[in-house]
Amino acid sequence: MHTLFEPAREVPVVDEFDICVVGGSCTGVFAAIRAARLGAKVAIVENNGFFGGVATASQVNIWHSVYDIHGEQQIIAGLTTEVTERLKHRNAVWIGAPTDASKYFILHTEELKIELDEMITGAGVRPFLHTRFVAPIVENGRPVAVAIEDKTGRRAVKASYFIDATGDGDLVDRLGYPCYKRSGMQPPTMCAIIRGLDRIKAEYPDFSLSQTVFNPLYPNSLKKGFLWSAGVPGGQGDTMVAGTRVFGVDCSDADQLTKAEMEGRQQVRAICDILRQNFLDEEINPLVALPAKIGIRDTRHARCQHTLTEEEVLYGVRFPDAIANGTYRVDIHNHEAGGILFRYLDGTEVWIDGDGNKDVRRWRAEGEEPTPFYQIPYRSLVPQNGDGNVLIAGRILDADPGAFGAVRVMVNCNQTGEATGVAAYLALNNNAPVEAVEIPKLRQTLAAGGSAII
Ligand SMILES: Cc1cc2nc3c(=O)[nH]c(=O)nc-3n(C[C@H](O)[C@H](O)[C@H](O)COP(=O)(O)OP(=O)(O)OC[C@H]3O[C@@H](n4cnc5c(N)ncnc54)[C@H](O)[C@@H]3O)c2cc1C
Repeated sequence: MHTLFEPAREVPVVDEFDICVVGGSCTGVFAAIRAARLGAKVAIVENNGFFGGVATASQVNIWHSVYDIHGEQQIIAGLTTEVTERLKHRNAVWIGAPTDASKYFILHTEELKIELDEMITGAGVRPFLHTRFVAPIVENGRPVAVAIEDKTGRRAVKASYFIDATGDGDLVDRLGYPCYKRSGMQPPTMCAIIRGLDRIKAEYPDFSLSQTVFNPLYPNSLKKGFLWSAGVPGGQGDTMVAGTRVFGVDCSDADQLTKAEMEGRQQVRAICDILRQNFLDEEINPLVALPAKIGIRDTRHARCQHTLTEEEVLYGVRFPDAIANGTYRVDIHNHEAGGILFRYLDGTEVWIDGDGNKDVRRWRAEGEEPTPFYQIPYRSLVPQNGDGNVLIAGRILDADPGAFGAVRVMVNCNQTGEATGVAAYLALNNNAPVEAVEIPKLRQTLAAGGSAII
């Protein structure tokens, strides 16, 4: 590859913090808030002009169950509950109760942006928006700052501890920590807010968006896949639709990300054109809003002290260093064909192939007790061969494909954020490496701050 030499330069230091969180989805925001509420001086660096990550930038608006699969025991609380409570006051969340009696939440993600701003301000965290982390600054073999690029130019944010919540592991990768990417990464999806579906339903009672957009009878139909949608709380019949998929791209590669963004938008246009040309008055444009960014499911993972396995998830292995609990099913979108696999904690599994054929089976013998919930250990957030002052949170966590398919959802990522914020604070307080955080103290401090620790 042709290269150029970029001269070394001095970088102004913005300020010095105890903890710097890189990446400001709910994962990163929750890490920052938990550390700041304990008394740490915290900075958070976010590439977008708002917080929330996939939930806001990519319009993904469902948080799954915070109860065990029987709907009896609350297994997730903390800032997830705090946020849903705050959104209730703004009529910005719908709470549903599917058949398993547990609850899910449909969020008004524009309102979520404003709530997260208020929570960051309330906790006294220093926000850096429209700011991209570009490189770690290492002294004596240990990161001491992150170089950022923003409207002001290139600057440095110094800190004693760092949390990588970038989704793609930008910080740990650039530090040279061991990371991995799978050849079969789950594909990204360009969501969109679409209007007019209620009108179509009224006129065509048998209408199914999913069957329509993948129907090869329509010349602009999408490659067979899986589509889900959710209303927008407080909206006027608007629907968030997640039905596109861009196959064969690695969104942690800049050129492939560019391709994915543009192809994803073309697929949204195809959905809208099918609706306009076949179900709506052509004068009506169903497209209300595109997301700021394509929704990325899977890219790089950090190699950590523990690789969470699908078996541990499905059988609900209990960990002494558990910092999070979840029930969301194993959910693997096929990386090259349109199919999807779900494995549920109740023992069933559902395969849907690229042509939409569905096969329901069991992964667990009939009559065996279902798994009420699974856990995520702290060790899956502690990088291998780290420098003692870096943790990871969110979808970068170390998990095999099946475990990742389950734990990648936001209610789980949120808890990993909270755990790393508290762990970084405890390490700071003891002037100790993140590997040496006392687990009982970590779990106790998480619980004292409102987390469900079991
Ligand atoms: C289409 C789709 C549908 C999904 N459906 C659901 C669902 O229904 N419910 C659910 O709970 N989960 C769902 N998920 C999964 C879930 O949304 C993600 O796994 C989760 O949000 C990942 O969180 P994260 O914090 O790790 O990463 P992200 O949400 O990707 O956040 C990373 C943040 O870091 C910032 N960042 C990245 N690099 C830099 C940098 N260099 N400098 C500064 N900032 C940076 C980004 O801007 C972003 O804000 C879905 C995902 C997709 C893509």
